[in-house]
Amino acid sequence: MAYTEQLAHLLKSLGNEALDLVYPPSCLICDTMGPRTLCATCRDGFQSVEQPFCNVCQTAIEVGKSKSLCQNCESRTYNFHSVRCGGLFDGTLRDCILQLKYSYQKQLSIPLGEFLAEYLWSQPYGNQKFDGIIPVPLHKSRQSDRGFNQSEEIGRVVARISGLALYSKSLVRIINTKAQAGLAGAMRSQNVMDAFKTVDSHFIEGKSLLLLDDVVTTMETANECARVLINGGASRVSVLAVARGLL
Ligand SMILES: [Zn+2]
Ligand SMILES: [Zn+2]
Repeated sequence: MAYTEQLAHLLKSLGNEALDLVYPPSCLICDTMGPRTLCATCRDGFQSVEQPFCNVCQTAIEVGKSKSLCQNCESRTYNFHSVRCGGLFDGTLRDCILQLKYSYQKQLSIPLGEFLAEYLWSQPYGNQKFDGIIPVPLHKSRQSDRGFNQSEEIGRVVARISGLALYSKSLVRIINTKAQAGLAGAMRSQNVMDAFKTVDSHFIEGKSLLLLDDVVTTMETANECARVLINGGASRVSVLAVARGLL
């Protein structure tokens, strides 16, 4: 057995306390020593989406506007019922999501999931009831590159805290689509068209679902997932995102 392997073995047998001596725990965002994943200051930096916002897509609307819909939603219908986001894709919330996805800091899914569960607890959908959570899937090649699906990891935490079921196998991505962030308006809906399908759809038949994504911006991905889920028999789909992308 190689020396490093022996050391790892020994540390594992001694548990986290020994590991902490070699690698003292610190915040994954600001490096402050002490907390193992995220410090209180970074967590307090998460900004929520302020009222008044559109009742469907949660974009900001003018103060005092008589209708509760934005201009876009007045003329457009979506396959999902409504979108709610825990916070804004900015500051430390943005840092956490980027670290989770691109630096493979999977542990950050725990504070992000706790944050989203706490948000869900505040009943952002009014009296809508849900049967389960369905994470936006990654294509299998992207999932194997990253080693995990960030939305599924966050969804697992939210499901555990909220007591909702997690349907992580019922929706799959069959086309390895380009990243939406790099595409202009109309290309975004084309990019995700027919990219998803349901599997074992009896699990979701008649169910009211919360589609969980890490970041929503133009909502084309969420809209296409919702279309496929409704076609697969779901009774209603609402979207829950950790953060709202800034347009
Ligand atoms: Zn920090
Ligand atoms: Zn809207």
